[in-house]
Amino acid sequence: MSDTPRKKAVITGITGQDGSYLAELLLAKGYEVHGFIRRSSTFNTERIDHVYQDPHVDDQRLILHFADLADGSRLVTLLNEINPDEVYNLAAQSHVRVSFDEPEYTGQTTGLGTVRLLEAIRTAGVSPRFYQASSSEMFGASPPPQNEDTPFYPRSPYGVAKVYSHWITRNYREAYGLFAVNGILFNHESPRRGGTFVTRKITRAVARIAAGQQKELYLGNLDAVRDWGYAPEYVEAMWRMLQHDEPTDYVVATNTAYTVRDFLRFSFEHVGLDWEKYVKFDERYLRPTEVDALIGDPSKAADLLGWVPKVHTPRLAQIMVDADVAALAIEGQHHVDVVVSE
Ligand code: NDP
Ligand code: GDP
Repeated sequence: MSDTPRKKAVITGITGQDGSYLAELLLAKGYEVHGFIRRSSTFNTERIDHVYQDPHVDDQRLILHFADLADGSRLVTLLNEINPDEVYNLAAQSHVRVSFDEPEYTGQTTGLGTVRLLEAIRTAGVSPRFYQASSSEMFGASPPPQNEDTPFYPRSPYGVAKVYSHWITRNYREAYGLFAVNGILFNHESPRRGGTFVTRKITRAVARIAAGQQKELYLGNLDAVRDWGYAPEYVEAMWRMLQHDEPTDYVVATNTAYTVRDFLRFSFEHVGLDWEKYVKFDERYLRPTEVDALIGDPSKAADLLGWVPKVHTPRLAQIMVDADVAALAIEGQHHVDVVVSE
C-alpha cells in the first residue's frame, strides 16, 4: 500500500451537471470527495446516485454534507473539519433567463457565495487549491473570438455576478497568495444538462416528439451563436488547472460556432425529423438583453494544460438525443410495469 495520503477535494454544486462528472473523475483518481449539497424537501441527488456510498461502508470515499453557499459559518466549520487539498466552487444559480427574474438571489449565490467560500477558507486556516467556475457569459457583448484578455461586458445579472466572483477569486490569489484559478468555461452540455437550458430542452423534446408524446416545442431566439462542448471533457480541464505549477485563468471552449437553429437541425435530423414542422416561437424565452455570440479561443489551455476538446456540437447533439430517447424508453417500460402490476 502507498504511504501517500489520499487527496481530499470539496465540490460545491456536486448535485449539478458538472459536479456529478467531476465527482466521478476525482473518485476514479483515488480522491476522497466531499460534496456540499443544499437541503431540499425532495431528493436532489439524482445525478450522483450512481456513485453514492452508504456512510456505513468501510473506506467511504464520497461523503456528502449539507452546506448552502448562503451560510458562511457552516462553510468555515466544514472546511476546518475536512482540511481539503482542493476546493471546486461549482455551486450557483446558473440559469441566465432566471437571473433576470431573481437578480438579487442570483447575486447572493452566484456572486457573494464565492466570497463566503473564500473567506471560509481563510477563517478556517486551511490552504487548498481553489477552482472558481467562471463563465463565458462574462464576455457578453464583447465580440468573438473571446480569450483570457477579452474585456468583460456581461449582459445579465448572472453574468454580472460571475464577474464579481471572477475578480474576487483573482483578488484572493493576489492578496493572500491562495492558489486560486478561474476556469472561464464556454457552454458545455451533456445528457445530465438541466432541462431548461436550450440544448437539453431541444433533445428531450426530440425524444418525446419522435415517440409521439409531444407535438410542439416553444423556443425564443434561434439566432444566438454558442460554442457548445461536452461536459465530461470540461471537468477534466478543471482538474488539470489545479495540478498546474502556477495559478492562472483559462478559457475552455471548442472554438467552433453554431446557432440554436443549427442545434435544432442536428438534433431533429438524428431521428429523421424536420425541426421546422415542430418548433414555435414564444417571447417568454427571450432575454431583456441577449448575448449574441460566444466563441472561445482555448489556446492557453491547450498550451499549458494539454487540453484539447474531442466532441464538437454536431456529435454532442447526437449523444444527447440518443440518451433522451433511451431514457424515455426506460420510463415507458417503467410506466407499463406500473400499469401491469396494478
Ligand atoms: P447546475 O445548475 O447543473 O448546478 C448548479 C449546482 O449548484 C447544483 O448542484 C445546485 O444544487 C447548486 N446550488 C445552487 N444554489 C446553491 C446554494 N445556494 N448553495 C449550495 N449549492 C447551490 O450547473 P452546471 O453544473 O451546469 O455548472 C456548474 C458551474 O459552472 C455553475 O457555477 C455554472 O454557473 C458554471 N458554468 C456552467 C456552464 C455550463 O455551460 N454548464 C458554463 C460556464 C460556467 P441543486 O442541485 O440543489 O439545485
Ligand atoms: P446560456 O448561454 O447560458 O444562456 O444558455 P441557454 O442554454 O440557457 O441559452 C442559450 C441560447 O439559447 C441563448 O441565447 C437563449 O436566448 C437561446 N434560447 C432560445 N430559446 C431558448 C429557450 O427556450 N430556453 C433557453 N434556455 N434558451 C433559449
